[in-house]
Amino acid sequence: MAYEAPKNILIPAEDIQRRVRELAFEIGRDYADDAQLHFVSVLKGAFVFLGDLVRSMDRGVSLDFMAVSSYGKSVNSSGEVRLLKDLDSGLEGRNVIIVEDIVDTGLTLAYLQEILRARGPKSLRTACLLSKPSRRKVDVKVDYIGFTIEDRFVVGYGLDYAEQYRHLPYLAVLD
Ligand code: 5GP
Repeated sequence: MAYEAPKNILIPAEDIQRRVRELAFEIGRDYADDAQLHFVSVLKGAFVFLGDLVRSMDRGVSLDFMAVSSYGKSVNSSGEVRLLKDLDSGLEGRNVIIVEDIVDTGLTLAYLQEILRARGPKSLRTACLLSKPSRRKVDVKVDYIGFTIEDRFVVGYGLDYAEQYRHLPYLAVLD
């Protein structure tokens, strides 16, 4: 079947760009000027958000990546979180910011926060591009949220359905 881009646009590219710049400003404002920030991002969905976010930061940052699996190719959450790839370096004494694409049930983020906190960072905060509060199963703290959305399945701007649509510069609804 020929590729077709989803047409049901939820958040246009310009709105995402503006909001990501605002988030970068808020993050920068919340830390001392000389604080080095270490962004820990979750593959693969957060890669576009991370790329735009760090390019809007007006200070030195470092990056690391981890991969977890919770969904597979299904739209529904299995509720299971598996660590597929760990970080390359330790977090001790660092100002760590977890960068996630979307907080849905909160299970993935709660798991990540728990294991990363145990590694002794100086501070640990979380930035999520999207939040679906109506789907939450566990109470999880997110310090920076790009957009709060309804319970719809979204793709684009890093988010996929069966590995498709990650490249779209906007967010679209699939269901
Ligand atoms: P949680 O553990 O909070 O339920 O799930 C978080 C993960 O589920 C996200 O990092 C993302 O990979 C996936 N996810 C949740 N909602 C959506 C959605 O609307 N679209 C896509 N593409 N992935 C989603």
